[in-house]
Amino acid sequence: MAKYIFVAGGVMSGVGKGVATASIGKILQSRGFKVTAIKIDPYVNVDAGTMNPTEHGEVFVLNEGTECDQDMGNYERFLGVDLPAINYMTTGSVYETVIRRERNMDYGGRCVEVVPHIPLEVIDRIEKSVKKAKADFITIEIGGTVGEYQNILFLEAARMLKLKYPLDVLFVLVSYLPIPSKIGEMKTKPTQYAVRTLNSAGIQPDIILARSTAPLDGKRKEKIALNCNMRQEDVISAPDIETIYEIPLNFEKDKLSSLILKKLKLKPRKSNLQDWAKLLRAIKGAKQPVKIGIVGKYFGTGDFVLSDAYLSVIEAIKHATFFHKRKPEITWINSEVFEKNSKTLKDLKKYDGIIVPGGFGSRGVEGKIKAIEYCRKNKIPYFGLCYGMQLACLEFARHVCGLSKAHTTEIDKNTPNPVIDLMLEQKAVLKDNRYGGTMRLGAYYCRLVPGTKAAKAYGRELISERHRHRYELNNEYRDLLVKNGLVVSGVNPERDLVEIIELKNHPFFVATQFHPEFKSRPLAPHPLFREFIKAAICSNH
Ligand code: GLN
Repeated sequence: MAKYIFVAGGVMSGVGKGVATASIGKILQSRGFKVTAIKIDPYVNVDAGTMNPTEHGEVFVLNEGTECDQDMGNYERFLGVDLPAINYMTTGSVYETVIRRERNMDYGGRCVEVVPHIPLEVIDRIEKSVKKAKADFITIEIGGTVGEYQNILFLEAARMLKLKYPLDVLFVLVSYLPIPSKIGEMKTKPTQYAVRTLNSAGIQPDIILARSTAPLDGKRKEKIALNCNMRQEDVISAPDIETIYEIPLNFEKDKLSSLILKKLKLKPRKSNLQDWAKLLRAIKGAKQPVKIGIVGKYFGTGDFVLSDAYLSVIEAIKHATFFHKRKPEITWINSEVFEKNSKTLKDLKKYDGIIVPGGFGSRGVEGKIKAIEYCRKNKIPYFGLCYGMQLACLEFARHVCGLSKAHTTEIDKNTPNPVIDLMLEQKAVLKDNRYGGTMRLGAYYCRLVPGTKAAKAYGRELISERHRHRYELNNEYRDLLVKNGLVVSGVNPERDLVEIIELKNHPFFVATQFHPEFKSRPLAPHPLFREFIKAAICSNH
């Protein structure tokens, strides 16, 4: 019988509920349990694909092509597993299924109601996910904050599941304890209110993770316990820390996994977090920096939002730098600056390596192309991800092959040289405004060309990577590009689509149509990121 751990958030969002959930999964996994993880997003959007990443954070992509919340990436990175599509749901997707079933007479003529049919569909998905993963434990993170209208039906599902399996369901509240600067004292009242709100939904938390800038002291623990109807040992201190990868180890210092096992009446098992502890030593011991510049366009919104919009890229850079025992130093570079003043391009020399990540639309594109040209000519290690690959092809077509007007039809529909063009099946999709879930999404195979940098990095011939794009390298221009020295180092075998390009006589100039960042893990850095960072460390441009 599987055990279900629901994680809800109290007081406010953005306090690290996702990494806390991922860390709970990790410490249970380290005790030899099979763990899977679900994220519930209380949006009416059917998936995260149509949400603006500067507002909602990165759109993470699963193997099956589901466009989902970045927390799914946190789970995959912490647990080291690939999660299935069933593990992500939104209000929209749940309603969509219930309405479709109603249309198909699946409810046999009964009245279909918000309660119980919506929570029952949620429960059905949770149970399917457990079955699929053959999991001993499932963590289910309910997005948003308790007390808001949006997630009420998901709390209702949690309550109903507890009724169904009284001994197998546990509730964790990740709450926030502010320390107002004028008072200088940690306040528990908002958390008390959060628990009361949860109580009114029929749920009593079993464990509270008390997030704050500082550790929880005895007095505060006592207060929360008394007012929230709990034992003091069920209130766990979760202060801010330097790196998210420290959280599982911190939880274990507080014996969180033993507490969970005890509450669920499971026998204690030995914990093995040695790999994780080793990773942490590498992170903390790393002193010498590797300077990576990320050239992009989302800059009106400040660094904070940016780090969320490119979360997996940042984590992948970190994994690879930690692997090389270095400290990542990441700088956001606004490509529009290069458009206004080409002289600023020489600033790129300050970095050990440059990345142009995924993107859409025209803003900042010419600046990105200039930056890519500068990296190519000045032998600065360059790694292009999706749009970063398409723009590298345009740069090469324009400045090496002489097609000065080469463009992507995403920006210039009438270009005489559509070197990057819309995929055939995407033409019909866009004509009908069918934007949601219609890109080339998820895992596809890619065959590597022996002897190339890419093949050497992977050490394999057939790889599988995740995609999210509508445009591709137009095969009509492939011969010309190759004749001029572009190396096509990876091709999708079924459709003959170019997936990786690279250049010879350059310390590292590699770009991928897929998003390698989605598959990088702290304990298993992505081979291309690993080689890129290695080149950045060795480079003497
Ligand atoms: N805009 C490009 C496309 O749709 C690249 C997408 C991306 O970078 N994810 O093909």
